[in-house]
Amino acid sequence: MTEATKKHQYTLIILKPDALVKSLSGNILTRLLEARLRLIGAKVVKVSRELAEVHYAHLKDEPFFDDLYEYFSGKTYGPKYERVLVFVSEGVDAISKVRRIAGATNPLDADPITIRGAYGRINKKGIMENVIHCSDSEESAKKEIHLWFDPDEIIGELYPTKKVIKENYEVIEWA
Ligand code: UDP
Ligand code: MG
Repeated sequence: MTEATKKHQYTLIILKPDALVKSLSGNILTRLLEARLRLIGAKVVKVSRELAEVHYAHLKDEPFFDDLYEYFSGKTYGPKYERVLVFVSEGVDAISKVRRIAGATNPLDADPITIRGAYGRINKKGIMENVIHCSDSEESAKKEIHLWFDPDEIIGELYPTKKVIKENYEVIEWA
């Protein structure tokens, strides 16, 4: 790729529950940050069925979706691991860079120097437990960042926002 075609991009990264079970979060973040990707959003999320169905809308009607949800929600590993770590990162060619570091979807096909190749596996139900999610295009990055983050949870102005005044809106605060 020439200098002229390099592009500043945003991408959504999820460390799936198996990354947490295997204590890989630090290792994976090191790999991403060494590739000059900056984090501009980060949080821990318990993944509801509704959220999974929107995030994986292209797989929602597959016969394996129930098993995929078991894995993606962390239910496979028990209540202590029902969570994922979600990041927005930015950098030059961030989308293809993270996809390259992550490796092929199927851990058996992934280069062993990639995250999925090194740490992924296929579970007994045939689900690819591949440790990391990363957006595959600018279009999906935009959709996924809107789905997982509110504008004020991210450093920077990535996409257009609007101010809304809400009445009778319940929030939980520290007591
Ligand atoms: N997946 C799976 N079996 C399949 C297709 C997908 O287990 O036949 C899982 C796998 O964990 C994958 C995720 O569903 O990462 C989303 O699939 P997608 O095709 O979007 O691959 P990705 O973008 O994650 O490489
Ligand atoms: Mg995908």
